Amino acid sequence: MRIGLVVSQPASNLDLVPVGALADAGVWALFLRCFEDEVRWRAPAIDSFARSASSRGLRVFLVPAGYGGLFSPEQHPGSLFLQAHPQTRQVDTRGRRVPKACPNNPTYLEWLTSALRSLAWLVDADGFLWEEPGFYYLRGVWGCRCGYCQELYSGSEEGAMPLDLSHRVSAFRQQVVGELVATVSAAVKSVDATLASLMMPTPAPQTGAVPTGNENWRLLATRPGVDGTVLTWPPGTPGTPMSGLVAFYDAARAWFPPKSLIVPRLVCGPDVTELVDHLDARPEGGSAPVFKTVGHAAWDLAAAHVAQRMLTAS
Ligand SMILES: [Zn+2]
Repeated sequence: MRIGLVVSQPASNLDLVPVGALADAGVWALFLRCFEDEVRWRAPAIDSFARSASSRGLRVFLVPAGYGGLFSPEQHPGSLFLQAHPQTRQVDTRGRRVPKACPNNPTYLEWLTSALRSLAWLVDADGFLWEEPGFYYLRGVWGCRCGYCQELYSGSEEGAMPLDLSHRVSAFRQQVVGELVATVSAAVKSVDATLASLMMPTPAPQTGAVPTGNENWRLLATRPGVDGTVLTWPPGTPGTPMSGLVAFYDAARAWFPPKSLIVPRLVCGPDVTELVDHLDARPEGGSAPVFKTVGHAAWDLAAAHVAQRMLTAS
């Protein structure tokens, strides 16, 4: 099992992360959240940290957070772009603007791709992880019903966008998120074609509970430029036995194209003994991809095997 770490720290604290000790302990990859508003001022510090990690043999994946409020929503990242461009926000079913940019808004897309190219250029890394980009959805209220979305929908579906989240509307949203992931993948790969692009859907869609538009795993996994999918298990249920991970992984596999890379991200307590036992019991246990996150520690601890083969193949 390859051990990794999600680093979710302000740039000013990155020099406190004991990179050398982590590398010595067998950590293989760092997933570094890059907050939109921090990257504006502190990109050199983030790059310095990434280079320091790389020099010790660690893989570094950047996790853009914020960027119009569309990425890493659980972190509640700020977005100066969204403040300055409120007209790019999604419109919900009550006609209100919500604090998430619309992935069909051309002003937003132009800025987003430019900002991500800058990030790829400013910070030396092995790849990007797209954390839960999707449409607004909260207790039955959903977005987006802005002019761009309505126009696109009526153009492709030959009818006005209904107020209920119908199957057609859901499929439309999934297509849009798929396009977005392809767009951001292309943006960073235009800077460096060897950068990996990993997609992490919202965890709860595993139960079908939160239709954010990123719940169609197969569609996302087959978008151009996407190299792998990070799936979270268990979906927000503390105390679920680790043994369920194996069944989940096998079930998820059936949804993906045969050679598609799946990286399970495991939300669990600090004791990973049971997990390791289960993985080691599998025939391919030693190489099973695992991604573990522990609570809300100073930084999230994760175990990750983001397929060496993906990087060596590129
Ligand atoms: Zn819209």
